Amino acid sequence: MFRVTKEVHFCYGHRLLNYAGKCRHLHGHNGKAVVTLEAAALDALGMVVDFSAIKRVLGKWIDDALDHRLLLHADDPIIPELLRQGEPFVTLSANPTAENLARLIFERAATDGLPVTEVTLWETETSFATYRPTPGTPDVPLTMREVAGTK
Ligand SMILES: [Zn+2]
Repeated sequence: MFRVTKEVHFCYGHRLLNYAGKCRHLHGHNGKAVVTLEAAALDALGMVVDFSAIKRVLGKWIDDALDHRLLLHADDPIIPELLRQGEPFVTLSANPTAENLARLIFERAATDGLPVTEVTLWETETSFATYRPTPGTPDVPLTMREVAGTK
């Protein structure tokens, strides 16, 4: 078994619903996604997946969809005000925790056809969460909606 790992750095804003800690208020993180891909055999070039291909496919999606975006739960009551102000944001069908962001990136990598086995999302330099599917019990995929700003 061969394993390759690619790190993708991005910044995001968020807040968590129904949460009593610091992350209940709007704020930002310098996040890092650590994406692990595995293959039993290498391709003709001797690679699992070319690092530059991971960057081109998944890195570009993270850059376009998540970097410098405000990530909110779809039920966040601030959404009507953001719409009124013409601000762009992204909603998830779950709280935008490190766990759920790891899972979102995993699901995107799998959709892109990458042989992803796990994704770790570093929210701070000391806190990270990892998503790896549980064999035989597929999770209901997260849904994500991008709302473009009007400014
Ligand atoms: Zn936070």
